[in-house]
Parts: sequence; C-alpha cells; structure tokens
Amino acid sequence: MERIRSQLFYKKALEVIPGGVNSPVRACKAVKADPVFFERGEGAYLIDVDGNRYIDYVCSWGPLILGHAHPEVIAGVYFASKRGTSFGAPTWQEVELAELIKNAVPSIEKIRLVNSGTEATMSAIRLARAYTNRKKIIKFEGCYHGHVDALLVKAGSGLATFGIPASPGVPEELTAHTLNLPFNDFEKVKEVFEKFGEEIAAVIVEPVPANMGVIPPKEGFLKFLREITQQYGSLLIFDEVITGFRLGVGGAQEAYGVIPDLTCLGKIIGGGLPVGAYGGKAEIMNLVAPEGPVYQAGTLSGNPIAVAAGLATLKELLKPGTYERLNLMAELLEKGIREALEDLDLNYRLHRVGSMLTLFFTEKEVIDFETALSCDTHLFAEFWQRMLEKGVYLPPSQFEAWFVSLAHKEKEIEKTVEAVYKVLKKLRK
Ligand code: PLP
Repeated sequence: MERIRSQLFYKKALEVIPGGVNSPVRACKAVKADPVFFERGEGAYLIDVDGNRYIDYVCSWGPLILGHAHPEVIAGVYFASKRGTSFGAPTWQEVELAELIKNAVPSIEKIRLVNSGTEATMSAIRLARAYTNRKKIIKFEGCYHGHVDALLVKAGSGLATFGIPASPGVPEELTAHTLNLPFNDFEKVKEVFEKFGEEIAAVIVEPVPANMGVIPPKEGFLKFLREITQQYGSLLIFDEVITGFRLGVGGAQEAYGVIPDLTCLGKIIGGGLPVGAYGGKAEIMNLVAPEGPVYQAGTLSGNPIAVAAGLATLKELLKPGTYERLNLMAELLEKGIREALEDLDLNYRLHRVGSMLTLFFTEKEVIDFETALSCDTHLFAEFWQRMLEKGVYLPPSQFEAWFVSLAHKEKEIEKTVEAVYKVLKKLRK
C-alpha cells in the first residue's frame, strides 16, 4: 500500500500544526508510524488520500456508532445547515435532544449541552464542588476525562498520590485536590475515604474504562463506589463520554444497574459533530447558571447542526434490535480473534464489553492501569502496522478500544479476523 500523498500532507502539516495533528494520538507515534490522511468515510470503511480502503475500528474514537456518512445523519446535517449554522439562542431541537437523552439515561433529570467531553467533565466537577462545598476529587489511574487541568494527573505509587501534573503548564495548585487511585481497587478507595471522606466532593470514573484499553469493572465495584460516596455525602460522576449510548441507550449505568448523581456524555450524542453534555439530578443541575450560581456557558453550545446529527444518531439507535445487531457483530469479532489466538497457541488477553474491544499483548491479567502496562507495546506497534497494510485501521495505541459500528457486517468481521490471524501468525514467527 502506498501512502505518498499522506506523507506529503504530513510534511506540510508539520510546518503549521504542532506535531502535524490537532489531537496528539492521531500522530500514530505509539505505533511508530506516520498518520494516514483521510479523504472520506463510507459505512465501515475509511478511504485515504491515496485511495486506499480500510475497515475502520477507530470510528472517530467512538462517536460513529452508525458508521461513516450515515444517510440519516447526513440528511439531518444538510437540512439543519440550510436553516442557518448557529443562532446563539434556543431551538426546539435542543429541547428534543435533551428530552430524548433524559428518557434514555436513568440518572438524568436535567441536562446541559456543551461542545466536547472535556467541557462536560470540567463542568460536572465544578458543579460537584459547588454542590458539596468540598474540593477534593477522586479519579482513577488510566481513566481519561479529557484535558481538564485538574484531571491531568500522573499515576503514582502509594496510598493516594496527590496530583502531580502530567503536563507542563498545569500548576500544582490546580491538581492538588485530585486523588488518583488504581481502578478496581476497593481497599484503596476505602482507605482514602476513611482519611479524607469529609473533603471529597466527588468520585469521577469511566464505569467501563476504555482509555487504558477496555477493562471491565470488577463485580460490585461500581455499586461499591455508589455506596461509599453516599455514605460520605460525596457525588458519584460517571464519565460516559464513551459508554453513553454505546452499551445501550441507558449506557453503563443501565447495564450495571448503578445510578450516579451526575453523568457526562459526548461522542455518540453528537453523531460525529462536536457535542458534549452533563446532566443528573434536578436538585444538583438547578445550581447551574442562570437557574443557579454555578457559571458555565458556550457560544456554540447546542449548535443546531451538531444537535441535528446527534438527534439523527440517537433516533436510529432507539429502533428495536439495534444493540442486539451491534453486539452480535462485536461478539463475532471476539470469537474470531479468540479462535485465532487458540490456533496459534497465543495467550494474549482479549477484553470485550458490548461493542468495545481490546486485544492486550500480554499474558497477564489486566485489571487496571498498572497491569495494562505489562503489554508489549512494541509488538502491538508491529501488529498495528501490519494490520494497516492488510486494510484494517485500528486505534494507533495499545491502550484504546476498538469500536464496532452498525455498519460493520459479517463480511468486514470475517476479513478482519483473517487479517488478525495472518498478522499474529507472522509476528509469532
Ligand atoms: N471522557 C472520556 C471517557 C473520553 O474518552 C474522552 C475523550 O476521548 C473525554 C472525556 C474527552 O472528550 P473530548 O475529546 O470530546 O473533549
């Protein structure tokens, strides 16, 4: 496969954009490759600027659950844009989207639309701190909640590593109230609550983390978080930016039967356009301006084109049988990869939750960030490159989820499994 035009564009991009990309992971550095520049998407496929076709498991990092350029989404965007691109004033479609989400997501009584997942988590934390009149936040190592200053903290050993900023430009004062704990670790959470319980405003968690690869919560872990936060008067925030409308219309909270106080959404609810949201109990949401004193605003929040794409996507998802079809394809993919691993006598870990999946290049059990780090990332890099040559575009990092969309059918799954088998066989030597 030649990618001459991609290389040319990348060279030009490096001159005008830091690292040549508008979001770091797109640079493909973790897989020791140059980024592929894309021309268009069609269903389960991406077509690059050199005309190569790939089966896409990035799906824009999750939003494209219907696949690329779904006709309903395109129609929604087209007709909305003809009416105007932005009003900076309310529209009835925003209300429709809010109602639709409220009816689907158990924890949400009121919701505010923003422009990204980062804005959603940032605003939810501000609100949680205002509601509880406390400062500390618990997050989990390996969970990503966007590039909010207070949440950009490094993992560290010990009981509770007080936020050491993971990025220059984030003053220690801004992460000083962030406690970073291992995911799935009941004991550490308990210890920290015993020590700081009265000061903890909220626990924020990806209920099924997908940003260190897909790691299911241990049996009872989410329920435990619900109970301990209630016991200490702290809020529980589910960051469902990835899992919202991915694990079913009610997200992870419905799938696991644990209802948080606040929920952050993004990705799928914008159908590939920039939308985020945070919502929860009315009593808490009523603190948000202008109803209450907690300031949060946005020039383009509830943008009519983005809302149209979100509405079209969610309406498709609400049709009967959607998630059964989606999960069936993901199950087929899982089964095919498991068979390939078995045939080749490889013991790599494969995790799937709904339509999200990660093949960890390690034989060790993966339950949190530290254990995920046991993966052979060099081997993954080679795997990724060879899969690309076989026409399969995977997330360019070991620590990401592969997303199956409704546009992936048996044909694409079979082709992917065949490629996985051949590549793993080659790598095994
Ligand atoms: N929360 C989670 C779980 C995410 O995966 C992401 C982004 O990948 C975010 C928040 C931030 O969303 P955005 O990139 O839209 O700011």
